[in-house]
Amino acid sequence: MLVLVINSGSSSLKYQVRDTAAGSRLANGLVERIGDASGGHPADHGEAIEQVLAELEGALGGRSIDAVGHRVVHGGERFGAPVLIDNEIVRAIERLAPLAPLHNPANALGIRAVTAKWPRIPQVAVFDTAFHRTMPEHAWRYAIPDALYTEHGVRRYGFHGTSHDYVTGLAAELLGIERSRFNAVVAHLGNGASVTAVRGGASVDTSMGYTPLEGLVMGTRSGDLDPSIVTQLIVRGEYTAGDLDRILNQDSGLKGLSGNNDMRSVVEAAAEGDDGAELALAVAAYRLQKYIGGYHVAVGGAHALVFTAGIGENSWPFRERVVEGLGALGVELDRYANVRRSGAPRVISTPESAIPVLVVPTDEEAQIAAATAALCGG
Ligand code: ADP
Repeated sequence: MLVLVINSGSSSLKYQVRDTAAGSRLANGLVERIGDASGGHPADHGEAIEQVLAELEGALGGRSIDAVGHRVVHGGERFGAPVLIDNEIVRAIERLAPLAPLHNPANALGIRAVTAKWPRIPQVAVFDTAFHRTMPEHAWRYAIPDALYTEHGVRRYGFHGTSHDYVTGLAAELLGIERSRFNAVVAHLGNGASVTAVRGGASVDTSMGYTPLEGLVMGTRSGDLDPSIVTQLIVRGEYTAGDLDRILNQDSGLKGLSGNNDMRSVVEAAAEGDDGAELALAVAAYRLQKYIGGYHVAVGGAHALVFTAGIGENSWPFRERVVEGLGALGVELDRYANVRRSGAPRVISTPESAIPVLVVPTDEEAQIAAATAALCGG
């Protein structure tokens, strides 16, 4: 089956075409500056889809797209699995906009543009939050008055679910453990970063919460912090809610501590003696170690610790720093295996390690394509 995977943002649209039977990628691309009237950019998502089709011409060897899979950021409490899209589903995605104001409306625009162009092609929505719908209530509740949950939906949802799900499956397979019996701590470390407690192959806790701001130290996001910081700074009158939203999401994390949001640069700067970069690494690694320790307990003893995404797959110095602090868990890194470059799922711990440490490359598009094909009879 040929599946067009679409990740639609407010002003950009990323796509891939995957052959789900062969497990291959036939094409990929990015349409940018949607709505930018200058310079011949697409006026709207409909024109962006036209551009994708034009770019695909010739790339598919005469075959045509069988189904379209959309990455949708927020599935709220309703969606715990991918769904076939109809009008009601698109409206439901739009109704979830208050929970993901930047993303869900843009995801819906992408769906509507495809529907307008190809009314008969089946489309599937795959939600970033869905994998975490299995979290028990004690993990997704904040200890705040009930009305904030019942009236405003304030609870923990979690994100990066498609990646955590995909990586969990591959890790279980690599270790030869049946997924339904597999416990793990999975660290998805990209520009955005989250760690998930997996018990019996399902998410039982995750570090991102109501929004992707909670949890780990990220490229530009602060992760966990005391909410009084926000209220007090607003009360003092020097910052607005908007200022703080920007500071905590865009100017914090590695960037806030070191001036740089890119892990490669931070690692290099730290190696050259930059104190801010060293501190950023120390704070980020320590935060992750605390989550790993906590989640090891939450899953009733993990069978593996798994690293994935840009940093998790590529930054051996950061992995080393994190795992070195896990001595109390009996985890032992194989330093040679850790620095070896590879695109394959692999073990980077010693045979003596209490639990194996794995690197498993993520592929959200493959997961979206597979989910789409499964729902469309592929
Ligand atoms: P996202 O998909 O969330 O935008 P990625 O998963 O692509 O992010 O991860 C981006 C992060 O991965 C950056 O901090 C970048 O520095 C880091 N990264 C990518 N390649 C390498 C590498 N070869 N060595 C170290 N870090 C890397």
